[in-house]
Amino acid sequence: MSQISRIRGTNDFLYNDSRKLRYIEEILHKKSRIYNFEQIRLPIFEYTDLFQRGIGEETDIVSKEMFTFTDRGNRSITLRPEGTAGTVRAAIENSLLNERSINKIYYIGSMYRAERPQKGRYREFNQYGIECIGSDSPHTDAEIIALNLDILKTLSSNLNCEALSILNLEINTVGCEKCKPKYNDALSKQLASQKDKLCTVCQNRYDKNILRILDCKNEGCISILENVVKMYDYACDECKAHFNILCDALNKMNIDFNINPKLVRGLDYYTKTAFEIKSNYLGTQSALAGGGRYDNLIGIFNNGKQVPAVGSAMGIERLLIILEDSNFDNTIKNSIDIFVVLFKETSNVGIEIINKLRQKNVSVESDFNIRSIKSQFKTADKYNAKYALILGPDEVLDNKATIRDMNTGDETKVSFETLESVILSKLK
Ligand code: AMP
Repeated sequence: MSQISRIRGTNDFLYNDSRKLRYIEEILHKKSRIYNFEQIRLPIFEYTDLFQRGIGEETDIVSKEMFTFTDRGNRSITLRPEGTAGTVRAAIENSLLNERSINKIYYIGSMYRAERPQKGRYREFNQYGIECIGSDSPHTDAEIIALNLDILKTLSSNLNCEALSILNLEINTVGCEKCKPKYNDALSKQLASQKDKLCTVCQNRYDKNILRILDCKNEGCISILENVVKMYDYACDECKAHFNILCDALNKMNIDFNINPKLVRGLDYYTKTAFEIKSNYLGTQSALAGGGRYDNLIGIFNNGKQVPAVGSAMGIERLLIILEDSNFDNTIKNSIDIFVVLFKETSNVGIEIINKLRQKNVSVESDFNIRSIKSQFKTADKYNAKYALILGPDEVLDNKATIRDMNTGDETKVSFETLESVILSKLK
């Protein structure tokens, strides 16, 4: 029978990686709390319509990357490709927007996109997303950027990761419904004579979603776009002012940034601010986090009542790739307090002692298969046990046991009455 393997583009996070994820998640929770964001947990699948209407029919995600299926009731269902549309759906459905004028939300969860898998690009991946719904202030955009960078800086210093300390924050304005059409028009006119020189994907984008041409990676397109018109020059006064205040705020917070006039994001709903945090360490999949303002998204689901919002998402697998260049493995090394070395005759006494110690929050392991003493000590080493507690048959008859310091090899004989207190004081 052939072996069943995991689906292409998915990952198994085994012990070590899972521990790394937990470490990162703890920082995500802690930092989110410091900036007063609250966690939500939402379904992994939603009605397809949510993403079609929210993300935009012409985007790469909706047009070719969604995992969509029909359920038994003949409804079209999609595995979430991103978290913002679901967050907005949940905020409206659960009346969060009525209860608080500003909702600061975060989520950590898996997303699904049928992309061509490669390093840093998977079909199932995890994102840390933050959304601030209800504020139109550019200072909120700055706060979102600051939270992302704060997390990355903390991980970089905790884990001694140099690669994470060299990041590039790029920002741009993509305009609003008033000025975006003017820019699109100018772009379309400028590119008209060269349309047939664009790659086939961009020729299609030219008609359907011209902004997306700006971030094409095709070399021919890149050279055609070299001196392309800039959004900022076509931005309305409100969008210009918003962008300028954002730049000021970032300067005040001592956050370095580069303005990239060609930065547009893969989702249609962005207005005004777009940003990306990039790392050279990631190669072609250089974006570690990205986001922006989406003042026109909520109205789509809220009977036309617009609520301004801004958010971002960070890719956790990409973070793990950058953290390969750190002392993460040492930081998260698992260890146990005690490994109890047993003999056949002493397993019964052993289980009693093990249970008592665990009730005192001492982490204890043993090998009830009672392999040789040598292999039991090997196992103790594998688990990085601080102490071995040896329950030899003769000693047990005497109500005694031996504690061995696994680092120094020093051994002490201890009576059962004092065993617990001796162990607890050694572990202090
Ligand atoms: P997006 O939702 O496309 O704005 O992506 C936000 C972040 O999620 C990116 O900067 C990446 O770090 C991460 N990301 C997006 N797509 C993938 C993918 N297919 N595999 C792994 N990470 C991804």
